[in-house]
Amino acid sequence: MSLTELESRIVELGYPAYRARQVWGWAYRQLVSDYAEMINIPPPLRETLATVAPLTMIEPVRTVTADDGETIKSLYRTGDGELLETVLMLYPERATVCVSCQVGCAVGCAFCATGLMGLSRNLNGGEIVAQVVGTMREARTRGRALTNVVMMGMGEPLQNYVETMRFIRIIHDPDGLDLGARRITISTSGIVPKIDALAAEPLQINLAVSLHAPHDEQRSELVPINRRYPIAVLMDSIDRYIAKTGRRVSFEYALMRGINDSEATARDLAALLRNKLCHVNLIPLNPVDVLPFERPDPASIERFAAILRAGGIPTTVRYSRGLDIDAACGQLRAKEEGIRAAS
Ligand code: SAH
Ligand code: SF4
Repeated sequence: MSLTELESRIVELGYPAYRARQVWGWAYRQLVSDYAEMINIPPPLRETLATVAPLTMIEPVRTVTADDGETIKSLYRTGDGELLETVLMLYPERATVCVSCQVGCAVGCAFCATGLMGLSRNLNGGEIVAQVVGTMREARTRGRALTNVVMMGMGEPLQNYVETMRFIRIIHDPDGLDLGARRITISTSGIVPKIDALAAEPLQINLAVSLHAPHDEQRSELVPINRRYPIAVLMDSIDRYIAKTGRRVSFEYALMRGINDSEATARDLAALLRNKLCHVNLIPLNPVDVLPFERPDPASIERFAAILRAGGIPTTVRYSRGLDIDAACGQLRAKEEGIRAAS
């Protein structure tokens, strides 16, 4: 619920509206996980709220760490037994949480572990908020505050638009988690009508687009939604987004050996993005066990980046966190299912 929804619910229950703000503070400032801890709230209200607005929507199943404790990955179970995953990445200057917005994903990208599962269901806004709250508790035990949120876990946020926006409004609320819009990033495989919808939203959130290839033939193989929204159509929507918001868009590009990492491809990518207000994040592929794609060697990654930069495209190489714990893109959940299947 948003704060306004909570207020009307509490008024309906016969209590003054200011109680909502108190509850909100306990939930999102103190990060309590039980209504019993909200000592200034009347016990009958606490009991009712525990049923109509449960605080724990997802249960932690297990947590694993990597990168000398700087990457913490949590697996959660929803009320109906679905598994989802959330990753906390600690950097010297920031602490970023990567949340899931769906169980599985319907887009089915060729290199993605989540894509292999198909879509089980959308997560609701509360289940996405709960991942941020759980991660904030995790960060707090390490003396850190969460600074950034990226929707780059399982699922396609723009195919779960209503709950994604509900989630963003809740974590953005200044009386609650108070995460600034510029610290929130939505990543999409390119759902064009929803990119237009996002451009019309009043919030200044960041948009990242998973491009992965500069040509339709190859992009359709890697990111099947490209058949519905081909590159020219996608680029037009991004131009509209930039014109409307004035915001720089990032492009994600997972580099795969012998697939999309040639010098010619880098030149074509630079040509496609020339003069666009953008930034490219090159992500050396996280190989998935059962998929045939591999990560290029460091020299070809650097060569690819150099060609983009020479073409005037701001480019960063982002090595994934948590490779040794299958931290990226649906891999922990895949492992948990393997464990369950084997036992
Ligand atoms: N569905 C959204 C957001 C979640 S995926 C999207 O596709 O953008 C977040 C990012 O991880 C995307 O850029 C996606 O293409 C990338 N990704 C998926 N599988 C990967 C893998 N095995 N290695 C590297 N990046 C991967
Ligand atoms: Fe879905 Fe994103 Fe994975 Fe593609 S990369 S299957 S859109 S989660």
